[in-house]
Amino acid sequence: MDCRHAISLMHEYLDGDLDHGNSVMLKEHLQTCPSCKQHLNELEQAEVFAATIPPLKVPANLAVNIIESFPPEKKSSVVFRWLKRYPALSVASIFIIAMVSSYTIQGMGNEPELVVRGTDIDKIMIENNKVIVPSGVEIAGDLVIENGELWIQEDAGIKGDVVIIDGELVASTANIEGKIREVNETIDLLWYKLIGFFRP
Ligand SMILES: [Zn+2]
Repeated sequence: MDCRHAISLMHEYLDGDLDHGNSVMLKEHLQTCPSCKQHLNELEQAEVFAATIPPLKVPANLAVNIIESFPPEKKSSVVFRWLKRYPALSVASIFIIAMVSSYTIQGMGNEPELVVRGTDIDKIMIENNKVIVPSGVEIAGDLVIENGELWIQEDAGIKGDVVIIDGELVASTANIEGKIREVNETIDLLWYKLIGFFRP
């Protein structure tokens, strides 16, 4: 087997698509070829790096915002696959996209708009930039608040995770069963978008 063939088998191997016969052949090649062995190590480290990014439930549309900035269907799945495989190299390119998009938002000079996403939104009260979970109400899932304050009244609760972006959690955390994530710094927000990107 030549090295080019071995490398293409490595990619199938990492995707879990390699059948028994081919994986025996690949193993034999790796035993005799230090440079392919090294290459496989690097690919595996890239995958491990991606796996160490902490899991976090992310609203689908945040990740979609970034993915949408890529060209149509087929190209984007290639880019996406590549980004998943070589996360360290791709960080720089995502930073550029994210910085350009945040620059665009700031450049428009609008007041930040309150955005509320999640489960059971019809049970929530909104007063100016205050998002209030009224007494006795239980939100069954996650809640994402952008540019606002989250108030949880006594005897109210949230079963899922809470993400606050450029806002404030005024409530007692005791009423939240899931994880709480407050994202205020721009860098934090980029990181948050990155996590969403790798863990759609
Ligand atoms: Zn080789």
